[in-house]
Amino acid sequence: MRNNIVAGNWKMNLTFEQALQLANDLNAWATENKPTAKVIIAPTSIYLQAIQEIVDGDFVQVASQDVSNSEKGAYTGDISAEQLDSIGINCAIVGHSERREYQQETDAIIAQKLEQLFNKDITPILCVGEKLEERQAEKHFDVVKSQILNALNPQKAENLTKLVIAYEPVWAIGTGVTASPEQAQEIHAFIRSVLNETYGSEVAENTSILYGGSVNPSNAEELFSQKDIDGGLVGGASLKVEDFSQIIAAFK
Ligand code: PGA
Repeated sequence: MRNNIVAGNWKMNLTFEQALQLANDLNAWATENKPTAKVIIAPTSIYLQAIQEIVDGDFVQVASQDVSNSEKGAYTGDISAEQLDSIGINCAIVGHSERREYQQETDAIIAQKLEQLFNKDITPILCVGEKLEERQAEKHFDVVKSQILNALNPQKAENLTKLVIAYEPVWAIGTGVTASPEQAQEIHAFIRSVLNETYGSEVAENTSILYGGSVNPSNAEELFSQKDIDGGLVGGASLKVEDFSQIIAAFK
């Protein structure tokens, strides 16, 4: 069965000291409250190892915000799946809309990144989602379907047992505007149907599909109670332990 997951995407925020403090506070809350959902945090890559060392992996897991699409070698500044694996990182966000936009990441590059992660048995959190103008033109279903199929197409169903998908409408990221629970449920159910058609019911039923885009303590419970929403990918509200812990606690 699929997991409920609440993942915090810290993006390019926090000094080292602040990041350690937040990780410590979250770890203390999680070890005491033993949340039912799986908790993941994704700090800046240079902090990964230090944070991995201070959290209890049974309660808080640490993920990378990205991975290289190449295996190894002359790729200055990149971090490979093998390198993540070598410091014990077993989860990575891929294809976030900020990387698609600012680093010109295409579906083809994202497919290569997924391949690298699957080769090292690292769980990918594949981000998909439409832009505002695509939603207004009612193209959101087509956009999300093609992002998923283009990213996953080279994969066989047996590779996808670890896949996590995050649906993040670009118009809801960091804007304070959230998709309504009905809008989110509608597209999550659609994503599951695309997985079902392409890879079969086992992949469709076992893939956790997270919602992302201005999740906060007041909207988390209603979003997470939708049938096909298995948790959240949280940006801004993951930077304060009070907010993030309330979001996690939305899963009773
Ligand atoms: P937000 O970011 O919660 O700040 O909207 C979500 C994300 O980009 O993953």
